Amino acid sequence: MQVSLLDLRAQYATFKDKVLPIISDICDSQKFILGDKVSEFEAALAAYCTTAGAVGVTSGSDALIVALMAEGIGAGDEVITTPFTFFATVGAIVRVGARPVFADIDPVTFNIDPAEIAKKITPRTKAIIPVHLFGQAADMSPIMALAKENNLIVIEDGCQAIGAEYDGQRVGSFGDYGCFSFFPSKNLGCFGDGGAVTCKDAAKADLVKVFRNHGQSKTYIHEYVGGNFRLDALQAAILSVKLPLLDSWSEARQRNAAEYAEMFAAAGITEDDIILPKAEANRRHIYNQYCIRVTGGRRDALKAFLQENKIGCAVYYPLSLHLQPCFANLGGKPGDFPVSEKTTGEIMALPIYGECPRDQREFVVGTIAKFLGK
Ligand SMILES: *Cc1c(COP(=O)(O)O)cnc(C)c1O
Repeated sequence: MQVSLLDLRAQYATFKDKVLPIISDICDSQKFILGDKVSEFEAALAAYCTTAGAVGVTSGSDALIVALMAEGIGAGDEVITTPFTFFATVGAIVRVGARPVFADIDPVTFNIDPAEIAKKITPRTKAIIPVHLFGQAADMSPIMALAKENNLIVIEDGCQAIGAEYDGQRVGSFGDYGCFSFFPSKNLGCFGDGGAVTCKDAAKADLVKVFRNHGQSKTYIHEYVGGNFRLDALQAAILSVKLPLLDSWSEARQRNAAEYAEMFAAAGITEDDIILPKAEANRRHIYNQYCIRVTGGRRDALKAFLQENKIGCAVYYPLSLHLQPCFANLGGKPGDFPVSEKTTGEIMALPIYGECPRDQREFVVGTIAKFLGK
């Protein structure tokens, strides 16, 4: 048996007949940039995220950059975020010229710890970027309270968490901006790169639209220096076909997560060996990744054993971002963020995608049990 970490072909087969004629129509029209297809998707996405507006952009990375640009965040400003995230969250802060300031994470959800954020606020702090990692919302209630007290912008990095909820409210609708990625491996993926920014304030969405098109307020009048961050019509049309199916796909991932918990328990694997991901009671976790923690320094050995057995698995993320070579100038040292650093040594993602057959997931758990000598 061979188990892929992710295989989207079965999912594609369910909407292929619907999407191919739409792609063909767009090719016939030869209208590829922005236009009705993009506006239609933006309206559907804003409704899904319960925000006043949504703006289609080129990628999740650019969504973060354009949100920071729209707030005028740059040189001399500090932005607080997590050291345990995909590189792009922090890369975006540096690319606009601002300084990332890290706050350590919670060991259960892997998300930024609000108590650690509070310790990092200075007069130069302009914004907080909480990341809803692996598909579970960060602890938004204390984060929003801190932002309000200190007059800070909140940019949610929801790239792994479209449709995730906190206290019944969708991510992307708490902060001033919500940033999403439609990279193919996200729960809602397009056929290439794509992204979006959601805004609870319609005026901010209009401003993001200006920045995504070179800061152009009227034709050839540039109020600001923005960039080319435009989502294209083909990607938007594909996303419009896929969005109504997203919840069923996320529910299949939730079912698989629940079944993993049953399978691990049945195999006699306990928290002494493997710590399974936990969804907090007030959160809708959409499991973009199902990340276990392997204790006792055995993560890399287990990963090698799964790979020998042709089981797809991956380490998200092997290095806390304060230790990345390109951020050395920020002065991060080993030991600065103990929870993030410990997590990088224990974390491992297992196949969770909705169409992954049950016998393959049983094989994953059986192989882990074999490794542990159970
Ligand atoms: C995927 C991802 C991004 C970047 O999205 P792209 O569309 O790949 O540019 C940013 N932040 C997080 C947390 C992500 O998972």
